[in-house]
Amino acid sequence: MEVLKQSLSDTPKKTAKDPCPVCNYDLHLNEVRSKRIGIVDNSDRVVGWICYKCKTEFDMEDLVIVLFSEEEIRGEA
Ligand SMILES: [Zn+2]
Repeated sequence: MEVLKQSLSDTPKKTAKDPCPVCNYDLHLNEVRSKRIGIVDNSDRVVGWICYKCKTEFDMEDLVIVLFSEEEIRGEA
């Protein structure tokens, strides 16, 4: 289990990166902003986010809601 401990101690370095769980695209922009597209409900509460790159929708716990939702966005055209 020593290997596991070592990878945990590396965690602070990884905070500079914010890869999408689906496409692995680095969504980190800077400390306050990311390339994630926020999803808000009718009362402007953030309920999730969309990956800028692969358009997958996630909830606030980074669980996939819609995989590659681009089709829905394109459907408007
Ligand atoms: Zn993605």
